[in-house]
Amino acid sequence: MDINEIARSIHQDIIKWRRDLHRIPEIGFELDQTSLYLRGCLDQLGIPYYTAAQTGIVALVEGSTPGPTLALRADMDGLPIKEETGLPFASDNGNMHACGHDAHMAILLGTAKIISGMRDQIKGRVKLLFQPGEEGHGGAEKMIADGCLENPPVDRVYGLHVGQIFPEVGTGQVGVCDGPILAAATAFKVTVKGKSTHGALPHLGVDAITTAAETILALQKIVSREVDPLDSAVLTVGMIEGGEALNIVTPRVTFGGDFRTLLEKDRQYITARLEEICCSIAKANRADAEVEILGGYPPTINEPRSAKQVAGAATAVVGTGNVIEIRKPNMGTEDMSLYLQKKAGAFFVLGTGNPEKGITYPHHNSRFDVDEATLWIGPAVFARLVIGCPAGTGQG
Ligand SMILES: [Zn+2]
Ligand SMILES: [Zn+2]
Repeated sequence: MDINEIARSIHQDIIKWRRDLHRIPEIGFELDQTSLYLRGCLDQLGIPYYTAAQTGIVALVEGSTPGPTLALRADMDGLPIKEETGLPFASDNGNMHACGHDAHMAILLGTAKIISGMRDQIKGRVKLLFQPGEEGHGGAEKMIADGCLENPPVDRVYGLHVGQIFPEVGTGQVGVCDGPILAAATAFKVTVKGKSTHGALPHLGVDAITTAAETILALQKIVSREVDPLDSAVLTVGMIEGGEALNIVTPRVTFGGDFRTLLEKDRQYITARLEEICCSIAKANRADAEVEILGGYPPTINEPRSAKQVAGAATAVVGTGNVIEIRKPNMGTEDMSLYLQKKAGAFFVLGTGNPEKGITYPHHNSRFDVDEATLWIGPAVFARLVIGCPAGTGQG
Protein backbone atom coordinates (compact mmCIF):
# COMPACT_ATOMS: atom_id res chain seq x y z
CA MET A 1 0.00 0.00 0.00
CA ASP A 2 1.13 3.49 -0.68
CA ILE A 3 1.57 5.91 2.22
CA ASN A 4 -1.54 7.93 1.36
CA GLU A 5 -3.64 4.78 1.45
CA ILE A 6 -2.11 3.65 4.73
CA ALA A 7 -2.76 7.08 6.25
CA ARG A 8 -6.37 6.99 5.09
CA SER A 9 -6.75 3.45 6.42
CA ILE A 10 -5.86 4.61 9.96
CA HIS A 11 -7.96 7.77 9.78
CA GLN A 12 -10.44 6.47 12.36
CA ASP A 13 -7.59 5.78 14.81
CA ILE A 14 -6.32 9.33 14.33
CA ILE A 15 -9.79 10.76 14.99
CA LYS A 16 -10.22 8.57 18.07
CA TRP A 17 -6.85 9.67 19.51
CA ARG A 18 -7.70 13.29 18.80
CA ARG A 19 -11.08 13.05 20.52
CA ASP A 20 -9.71 11.17 23.52
CA LEU A 21 -6.98 13.78 23.95
CA HIS A 22 -9.43 16.60 23.32
CA ARG A 23 -11.41 15.54 26.39
CA ILE A 24 -8.46 15.85 28.76
CA PRO A 25 -6.70 19.18 28.06
CA GLU A 26 -4.02 20.09 30.58
CA ILE A 27 -1.82 23.15 31.02
CA GLY A 28 1.91 23.82 30.73
CA PHE A 29 4.03 20.96 32.07
CA GLU A 30 1.26 19.46 34.23
CA LEU A 31 0.21 17.01 31.54
CA ASP A 32 0.04 13.76 33.51
CA GLN A 33 -3.14 12.37 31.93
CA THR A 34 -2.08 13.41 28.44
CA SER A 35 1.38 11.92 28.85
CA LEU A 36 -0.05 8.69 30.28
CA TYR A 37 -2.44 8.39 27.35
CA LEU A 38 0.34 8.88 24.78
CA ARG A 39 2.62 6.38 26.53
CA GLY A 40 -0.20 3.85 26.46
CA CYS A 41 -0.54 4.33 22.70
CA LEU A 42 3.22 4.01 22.16
CA ASP A 43 3.26 0.83 24.29
CA GLN A 44 0.54 -0.62 22.07
CA LEU A 45 2.54 0.27 18.99
CA GLY A 46 5.65 -1.32 20.52
CA ILE A 47 7.66 1.90 20.22
CA PRO A 48 10.28 2.56 22.94
CA TYR A 49 10.42 5.99 24.57
CA TYR A 50 11.69 7.95 27.52
CA THR A 51 10.22 10.95 29.27
CA ALA A 52 11.74 14.44 29.11
CA ALA A 53 10.76 17.92 30.30
CA GLN A 54 8.60 16.45 33.08
CA THR A 55 5.68 15.10 31.01
CA GLY A 56 7.20 15.19 27.53
CA ILE A 57 8.08 12.03 25.61
CA VAL A 58 10.90 11.16 23.22
CA ALA A 59 10.07 8.01 21.24
CA LEU A 60 12.42 6.31 18.81
CA VAL A 61 11.63 4.36 15.65
CA GLU A 62 14.76 2.63 14.34
CA GLY A 63 15.09 1.99 10.63
CA SER A 64 16.58 -1.18 9.22
CA THR A 65 19.65 0.47 7.73
CA PRO A 66 21.92 3.24 8.98
CA GLY A 67 21.21 6.82 8.06
CA PRO A 68 20.32 10.22 9.45
CA THR A 69 18.06 10.98 12.38
CA LEU A 70 14.90 12.95 11.75
CA ALA A 71 12.86 14.45 14.57
CA LEU A 72 9.13 15.09 14.30
CA ARG A 73 7.60 17.30 16.95
CA ALA A 74 4.08 17.67 18.36
CA ASP A 75 3.16 20.00 21.21
CA MET A 76 0.87 18.67 23.92
CA ASP A 77 -0.60 21.46 26.05
CA GLY A 78 -4.05 23.03 26.13
CA LEU A 79 -5.20 26.45 27.33
CA PRO A 80 -7.08 27.72 30.39
CA ILE A 81 -10.18 28.43 28.30
CA LYS A 82 -13.69 27.12 29.00
CA GLU A 83 -14.74 25.17 25.91
CA GLU A 84 -17.91 26.29 24.12
CA THR A 85 -17.84 24.15 20.98
CA GLY A 86 -20.75 21.94 22.05
CA LEU A 87 -18.88 18.95 20.58
CA PRO A 88 -19.85 15.55 22.02
CA PHE A 89 -16.23 15.06 23.09
CA ALA A 90 -15.80 18.61 24.44
CA SER A 91 -13.68 19.07 27.54
CA ASP A 92 -15.47 19.77 30.79
CA ASN A 93 -12.44 20.24 33.03
CA GLY A 94 -12.23 24.02 32.51
CA ASN A 95 -9.30 23.81 30.07
CA MET A 96 -9.46 23.46 26.32
CA HIS A 97 -7.41 22.28 23.37
CA ALA A 98 -8.11 25.61 21.66
CA CYS A 99 -4.86 25.62 19.67
CA GLY A 100 -5.23 22.19 18.05
CA HIS A 101 -2.41 20.49 19.97
CA ASP A 102 -4.78 17.51 20.43
CA ALA A 103 -4.68 17.14 16.63
CA HIS A 104 -0.87 17.52 16.62
CA MET A 105 -0.50 14.61 19.07
CA ALA A 106 -2.98 12.45 17.12
CA ILE A 107 -1.11 13.23 13.89
CA LEU A 108 2.22 12.23 15.46
CA LEU A 109 0.69 9.00 16.82
CA GLY A 110 -0.65 8.32 13.32
CA THR A 111 2.82 8.91 11.94
CA ALA A 112 4.25 6.54 14.56
CA LYS A 113 1.80 3.86 13.50
CA ILE A 114 2.60 4.26 9.79
CA ILE A 115 6.39 4.36 10.07
CA SER A 116 6.67 1.63 12.71
CA GLY A 117 5.11 -0.68 10.12
CA MET A 118 7.64 0.40 7.50
CA ARG A 119 10.93 0.12 9.38
CA ASP A 120 12.44 -1.85 6.51
CA GLN A 121 12.12 1.28 4.36
CA ILE A 122 13.62 3.67 6.90
CA LYS A 123 17.27 4.56 6.50
CA GLY A 124 18.33 5.97 9.83
CA ARG A 125 15.89 6.63 12.62
CA VAL A 126 13.05 8.87 13.65
CA LYS A 127 12.61 10.62 16.97
CA LEU A 128 9.07 11.51 17.90
CA LEU A 129 9.06 14.53 20.20
CA PHE A 130 5.91 15.02 22.27
CA GLN A 131 6.55 18.39 23.88
CA PRO A 132 4.75 19.98 26.83
CA GLY A 133 4.46 23.69 27.58
CA GLU A 134 4.36 25.32 24.16
CA GLU A 135 1.86 28.02 25.16
CA GLY A 136 4.41 30.39 26.66
CA HIS A 137 5.87 27.94 29.19
CA GLY A 138 9.20 27.29 27.44
CA GLY A 139 8.59 23.60 26.73
CA ALA A 140 10.96 23.32 23.77
CA GLU A 141 13.78 24.81 25.81
CA LYS A 142 13.32 22.13 28.48
CA MET A 143 13.09 19.33 25.91
CA ILE A 144 16.36 20.53 24.35
CA ALA A 145 17.99 20.88 27.78
CA ASP A 146 16.95 17.29 28.47
CA GLY A 147 18.84 16.21 25.37
CA CYS A 148 16.04 15.48 22.90
CA LEU A 149 18.16 16.65 19.98
CA GLU A 150 21.17 14.51 20.96
CA ASN A 151 22.01 10.82 21.49
CA PRO A 152 21.68 10.18 18.64
CA PRO A 153 22.05 13.71 17.26
CA VAL A 154 19.15 14.92 15.16
CA ASP A 155 19.94 15.95 11.58
CA ARG A 156 16.62 17.57 10.75
CA VAL A 157 13.51 18.50 12.66
CA TYR A 158 10.00 19.05 11.34
CA GLY A 159 6.78 20.21 12.93
CA LEU A 160 3.35 21.31 11.84
CA HIS A 161 0.47 23.42 13.06
CA VAL A 162 -3.18 22.84 12.22
CA GLY A 163 -5.75 25.61 11.88
CA GLN A 164 -6.12 28.75 9.86
CA ILE A 165 -3.01 30.71 10.69
CA PHE A 166 -2.58 31.64 7.03
CA PRO A 167 -5.85 32.44 5.23
CA GLU A 168 -4.42 31.37 1.88
CA VAL A 169 -4.02 27.78 3.13
CA GLY A 170 -7.48 26.27 2.62
CA THR A 171 -9.10 23.12 3.94
CA GLY A 172 -6.81 20.12 3.51
CA GLN A 173 -4.03 22.20 1.99
CA VAL A 174 -0.44 22.36 3.19
CA GLY A 175 1.39 25.69 3.50
CA VAL A 176 5.13 26.15 3.82
CA CYS A 177 7.82 28.71 2.98
CA ASP A 178 11.57 29.30 3.06
CA GLY A 179 12.93 31.55 5.78
CA PRO A 180 10.80 33.17 8.49
CA ILE A 181 7.29 31.71 8.87
CA LEU A 182 6.46 33.04 12.36
CA ALA A 183 7.81 35.94 14.38
CA ALA A 184 9.85 36.32 17.54
CA ALA A 185 7.94 37.73 20.50
CA THR A 186 9.52 39.32 23.55
CA ALA A 187 7.48 40.47 26.53
CA PHE A 188 8.57 43.37 28.71
CA LYS A 189 7.50 45.31 31.77
CA VAL A 190 8.56 48.86 32.71
CA THR A 191 8.24 50.53 36.08
CA VAL A 192 8.53 54.33 36.15
CA LYS A 193 9.31 55.77 39.57
CA GLY A 194 8.71 59.44 40.38
CA LYS A 195 7.76 61.32 43.54
CA SER A 196 4.30 62.02 44.84
CA THR A 197 3.02 65.56 45.39
CA HIS A 198 -0.21 67.53 45.28
CA GLY A 199 -1.51 68.34 41.80
CA ALA A 200 -1.30 72.03 42.69
CA LEU A 201 2.44 71.74 43.43
CA PRO A 202 3.95 69.66 40.62
CA HIS A 203 7.39 71.24 41.07
CA LEU A 204 7.72 69.46 44.42
CA GLY A 205 7.36 65.99 42.90
CA VAL A 206 8.22 63.92 39.84
CA ASP A 207 5.30 62.87 37.67
CA ALA A 208 5.42 59.18 36.71
CA ILE A 209 2.35 59.50 34.48
CA THR A 210 3.70 62.18 32.12
CA THR A 211 7.04 60.32 32.06
CA ALA A 212 5.34 57.03 31.19
CA ALA A 213 3.19 58.71 28.53
CA GLU A 214 6.25 60.23 26.86
CA THR A 215 8.07 56.87 27.05
CA ILE A 216 5.21 54.87 25.54
CA LEU A 217 4.94 57.21 22.56
CA ALA A 218 8.72 57.20 22.09
CA LEU A 219 8.79 53.38 22.04
CA GLN A 220 6.55 53.42 18.97
CA LYS A 221 9.27 55.30 17.12
CA ILE A 222 11.67 52.33 17.37
CA VAL A 223 9.57 50.51 14.79
CA SER A 224 8.68 53.52 12.63
CA ARG A 225 12.10 55.24 12.67
CA GLU A 226 14.78 52.69 13.54
CA VAL A 227 13.89 49.31 12.03
CA ASP A 228 14.28 48.80 8.27
CA PRO A 229 10.76 49.36 6.87
CA LEU A 230 11.20 46.24 4.75
CA ASP A 231 11.72 44.12 7.88
CA SER A 232 8.58 43.49 9.91
CA ALA A 233 8.42 44.58 13.53
CA VAL A 234 5.60 45.61 15.83
CA LEU A 235 5.56 46.83 19.42
CA THR A 236 2.45 46.90 21.57
CA VAL A 237 1.98 48.32 25.05
CA GLY A 238 -0.99 46.33 26.25
CA MET A 239 -1.08 47.13 29.94
CA ILE A 240 -0.71 50.30 32.05
CA GLU A 241 -1.36 50.89 35.70
CA GLY A 242 -0.83 53.84 38.03
CA GLY A 243 -2.39 56.59 40.07
CA GLU A 244 -4.87 56.73 42.91
CA ALA A 245 -6.43 60.19 43.09
CA LEU A 246 -7.44 62.85 40.59
CA ASN A 247 -5.42 65.61 42.21
CA ILE A 248 -2.23 63.80 43.18
CA VAL A 249 0.90 63.50 41.07
CA THR A 250 1.52 59.76 40.76
CA PRO A 251 4.85 58.40 42.03
CA ARG A 252 4.71 55.07 40.21
CA VAL A 253 3.42 53.73 36.89
CA THR A 254 3.93 50.26 35.49
CA PHE A 255 3.28 49.35 31.89
CA GLY A 256 4.11 46.37 29.74
CA GLY A 257 3.68 44.80 26.38
CA ASP A 258 5.47 42.79 23.76
CA PHE A 259 7.34 43.31 20.55
CA ARG A 260 7.54 41.00 17.60
CA THR A 261 10.09 40.77 14.81
CA LEU A 262 10.84 38.41 11.96
CA LEU A 263 14.60 38.75 12.34
CA GLU A 264 16.69 37.88 15.38
CA LYS A 265 18.89 40.97 14.82
CA ASP A 266 15.84 43.24 15.13
CA ARG A 267 14.82 41.43 18.29
CA GLN A 268 18.20 42.10 19.85
CA TYR A 269 18.23 45.69 18.64
CA ILE A 270 14.77 46.49 20.06
CA THR A 271 15.64 44.82 23.36
CA ALA A 272 18.64 47.13 23.76
CA ARG A 273 16.81 50.26 22.62
CA LEU A 274 13.85 49.60 24.89
CA GLU A 275 16.04 49.85 27.94
CA GLU A 276 17.95 52.87 26.62
CA ILE A 277 14.80 54.83 25.73
CA CYS A 278 12.97 54.07 28.98
CA CYS A 279 15.96 55.00 31.15
CA SER A 280 16.87 58.13 29.14
CA ILE A 281 13.34 59.55 29.13
CA ALA A 282 13.00 58.81 32.83
CA LYS A 283 16.28 60.63 33.48
CA ALA A 284 15.18 63.63 31.40
CA ASN A 285 12.09 63.80 33.61
CA ARG A 286 14.02 63.36 36.90
CA ALA A 287 12.40 59.94 37.30
CA ASP A 288 13.80 56.40 37.29
CA ALA A 289 12.80 53.49 35.07
CA GLU A 290 13.27 49.80 35.58
CA VAL A 291 12.96 47.58 32.52
CA GLU A 292 12.32 43.85 32.77
CA ILE A 293 12.64 41.69 29.68
CA LEU A 294 10.39 38.74 30.42
CA GLY A 295 11.59 36.43 27.67
CA GLY A 296 9.81 35.05 24.67
CA TYR A 297 10.45 32.93 21.60
CA PRO A 298 12.83 33.61 18.70
CA PRO A 299 11.53 33.75 15.12
CA THR A 300 10.62 30.44 13.47
CA ILE A 301 12.89 30.21 10.45
CA ASN A 302 12.67 27.40 7.92
CA GLU A 303 15.83 26.11 6.30
CA PRO A 304 15.25 26.29 2.51
CA ARG A 305 16.15 22.66 1.71
CA SER A 306 13.92 21.31 4.48
CA ALA A 307 11.06 23.56 3.35
CA LYS A 308 11.52 22.15 -0.14
CA GLN A 309 11.34 18.61 1.25
CA VAL A 310 8.09 19.44 3.02
CA ALA A 311 6.69 20.85 -0.22
CA GLY A 312 7.80 17.69 -2.05
CA ALA A 313 6.31 15.35 0.56
CA ALA A 314 3.07 17.37 0.68
CA THR A 315 2.76 17.38 -3.10
CA ALA A 316 2.83 13.59 -3.05
CA VAL A 317 -0.01 13.64 -0.52
CA VAL A 318 -2.35 16.47 -1.59
CA GLY A 319 -1.17 17.35 -5.12
CA THR A 320 0.64 20.40 -6.44
CA GLY A 321 -2.37 22.73 -6.39
CA ASN A 322 -2.88 22.11 -2.69
CA VAL A 323 0.65 22.94 -1.58
CA ILE A 324 0.67 26.66 -0.92
CA GLU A 325 3.79 28.75 -0.75
CA ILE A 326 3.26 31.13 2.15
CA ARG A 327 4.33 34.57 1.00
CA LYS A 328 3.66 36.61 4.12
CA PRO A 329 4.83 35.28 7.49
CA ASN A 330 2.54 35.66 10.50
CA MET A 331 3.55 37.72 13.55
CA GLY A 332 2.42 34.89 15.87
CA THR A 333 5.07 32.77 17.62
CA GLU A 334 6.02 29.16 18.22
CA ASP A 335 8.70 27.53 20.33
CA MET A 336 9.40 25.22 17.37
CA SER A 337 11.77 28.13 16.66
CA LEU A 338 14.16 26.85 19.34
CA TYR A 339 14.68 23.49 17.61
CA LEU A 340 15.15 25.32 14.32
CA GLN A 341 17.81 27.56 15.88
CA LYS A 342 19.82 24.40 16.62
CA LYS A 343 19.02 22.09 13.71
CA ALA A 344 17.99 22.37 10.07
CA GLY A 345 14.32 21.76 9.51
CA ALA A 346 10.97 23.29 8.73
CA PHE A 347 7.64 24.15 10.30
CA PHE A 348 4.56 23.97 8.10
CA VAL A 349 0.81 24.30 8.39
CA LEU A 350 -2.11 22.04 7.60
CA GLY A 351 -5.33 23.89 6.78
CA THR A 352 -7.97 22.40 9.07
CA GLY A 353 -10.52 25.22 9.01
CA ASN A 354 -13.60 24.61 6.90
CA PRO A 355 -16.14 27.41 6.34
CA GLU A 356 -18.63 24.94 4.81
CA LYS A 357 -18.73 23.08 8.12
CA GLY A 358 -18.72 26.28 10.18
CA ILE A 359 -15.16 25.59 11.38
CA THR A 360 -13.95 29.17 11.22
CA TYR A 361 -13.07 30.22 14.76
CA PRO A 362 -9.47 31.34 15.30
CA HIS A 363 -6.89 29.73 17.59
CA HIS A 364 -7.34 30.31 21.33
CA ASN A 365 -11.09 30.86 20.83
CA SER A 366 -13.55 28.88 22.98
CA ARG A 367 -15.18 27.61 19.76
CA PHE A 368 -11.98 26.61 17.93
CA ASP A 369 -12.26 23.29 16.12
CA VAL A 370 -10.54 21.35 13.34
CA ASP A 371 -12.04 19.57 10.35
CA GLU A 372 -11.22 15.97 11.25
CA ALA A 373 -11.57 14.93 7.60
CA THR A 374 -8.16 16.56 6.96
CA LEU A 375 -6.25 14.86 9.76
CA TRP A 376 -4.87 11.88 7.78
CA ILE A 377 -2.86 14.38 5.70
CA GLY A 378 -0.51 15.24 8.60
CA PRO A 379 0.78 11.68 9.16
CA ALA A 380 1.00 11.09 5.40
CA VAL A 381 3.24 14.15 4.96
CA PHE A 382 5.38 13.26 7.99
CA ALA A 383 5.72 9.63 6.84
CA ARG A 384 6.77 10.77 3.38
CA LEU A 385 9.39 13.03 4.93
CA VAL A 386 10.74 9.92 6.66
CA ILE A 387 10.37 7.39 3.88
CA GLY A 388 9.48 9.15 0.65
CA CYS A 389 12.39 11.51 0.75
CA PRO A 390 15.63 9.60 0.36
CA ALA A 391 17.29 9.34 3.75
CA GLY A 392 20.51 10.77 2.34
CA THR A 393 18.82 14.13 1.95
CA GLY A 394 18.66 14.29 5.71
CA GLN A 395 22.36 14.98 5.89
CA GLY A 396 24.06 18.30 5.54
ZN1 LIG B 1 -1.56 28.43 20.80
ZN1 LIG C 1 -0.34 26.04 18.95
